[in-house]
Amino acid sequence: MAEYSALSLLKNALTGNRDWKPAWRKPDPKPSYDVIVVGGGGHGLSTAYYLAKEHGITNVAVVEKGWLGSGNVGRNTTIVRSNYLYPQSIRFYEHSMRLWENLSHDLNYNVMFSQRGILNLAHTPAQFDDYARRGNAMRHGGGDAELLNPDQIARLYPGLDVSASARFPVVGGLLQPKAGTARHDAVAWGYARGADRRGVDIIENCEVTGFLRDGDRITGVTTSRGEIRAAKVAVAVAGSTGHVMKLAGIDKLPIESHLLQAFVSESLKPILPGVITWGGGHLYVSQSDKGGLVFGGDLDGYNSYAQRGNLPLVEEVMSELLAMFPAFARVRLLRSWGGVMDMSMDGSPIITTGPLPGMYLNCGWCYGGFKATPASGWCFAHTIARDEPHEINAPFTLDRFHRGILIDEKGQGPTPKLH
Ligand SMILES: Cc1cc2nc3c(=O)[nH]c(=O)nc-3n(C[C@H](O)[C@H](O)[C@H](O)COP(=O)(O)OP(=O)(O)OC[C@H]3O[C@@H](n4cnc5c(N)ncnc54)[C@H](O)[C@@H]3O)c2cc1C
Repeated sequence: MAEYSALSLLKNALTGNRDWKPAWRKPDPKPSYDVIVVGGGGHGLSTAYYLAKEHGITNVAVVEKGWLGSGNVGRNTTIVRSNYLYPQSIRFYEHSMRLWENLSHDLNYNVMFSQRGILNLAHTPAQFDDYARRGNAMRHGGGDAELLNPDQIARLYPGLDVSASARFPVVGGLLQPKAGTARHDAVAWGYARGADRRGVDIIENCEVTGFLRDGDRITGVTTSRGEIRAAKVAVAVAGSTGHVMKLAGIDKLPIESHLLQAFVSESLKPILPGVITWGGGHLYVSQSDKGGLVFGGDLDGYNSYAQRGNLPLVEEVMSELLAMFPAFARVRLLRSWGGVMDMSMDGSPIITTGPLPGMYLNCGWCYGGFKATPASGWCFAHTIARDEPHEINAPFTLDRFHRGILIDEKGQGPTPKLH
């Protein structure tokens, strides 16, 4: 197993970097485990890591149909923030932020967490009032928030059109200074390495094709590499939730799968100090450490399990970016890609026991599951280990949809395009 220290970096640099060991093993599946986690994305891997680290449960398999990082954990625009309105969300995402702040140290793996701030632009007085309310709620919840006027915004973002003649004039903005970005692949690799070194088996190229049952109780999974039994089976498959849960006979969940695209440009000299979002529609952009503009917008607008997007949405996202930064019209686009999003009907996640005995479910991450990766795994591990949610994820169980206690962050309800 690779150990990372200043000494090992120096030694390997001097010997041509030929002696690095794989960061995690490639074990064959055992016949049974205490816990199987279905899905080797960020959430499945962090769940396995915290099961081992926080609860001493190490007889765990993470079963992944492709390779680690092939899902949304390797496809997102890497924004980490906790700028929510409702106390339940603030508590959860602030917990995630605290885990992020110590994550590289905890994993002994540089996840390149960079707290460069996120700025939400307001284009109408009503929108600015709304941001003031949200900023106050964030500060009440122990978070950080600052309202900025157009002059302060212009100083931060010199390329931004804040003139009165802009197509969408900037009235002000809400800044969360401790928000930022992290290297998405490194998060998956760091959690994988950390879980593996505590004894977790990470089994790639192993698709779950069905569930083993004893009456209602889930007792294991059938996979492309044979049957595996377990006392507990935890599902964390993000955009594939509907498909995988159907294999267990659950065909009604408050989740829809939708496609979200992302884009990266050629490298530029530093021009964006942090993450900035446009309030006239739905557009978020930051600059990677390599200099590329990393940005995205809305969903493609129809249910899909495809990982490639449509052209009208490309046009929409580009026009939004140029409304904000007209000078980016001369920047060349390098790549675009898509990922399948698990859109919940109130825009908030589900981390729950059930819906069947022996089963646990983690889904509904919508646009924002990357930033939740640490807290999601931490809370899901607690829920699996103790058979009940932690108080932080108690508001996010599945039965909120039965009881009508939704956490509707933007009042956008069941119209996934508006999530
Ligand atoms: C374009 C885009 C931009 C985004 N931008 C952001 C952002 O800036 N900030 C943010 O916070 N969030 C963002 N997100 C959302 C975030 O990436 C997701 O919410 C989060 O990654 C989902 O959790 P995950 O990492 O566990 O998912 P995934 O990485 O998708 O993991 C699920 C895994 O389950 C596996 N799987 C599926 N079916 C099976 C099966 N039958 N058997 C075994 N394994 C299976 C898949 O192969 C996959 O690896 C973005 C998403 C996309 C697509």
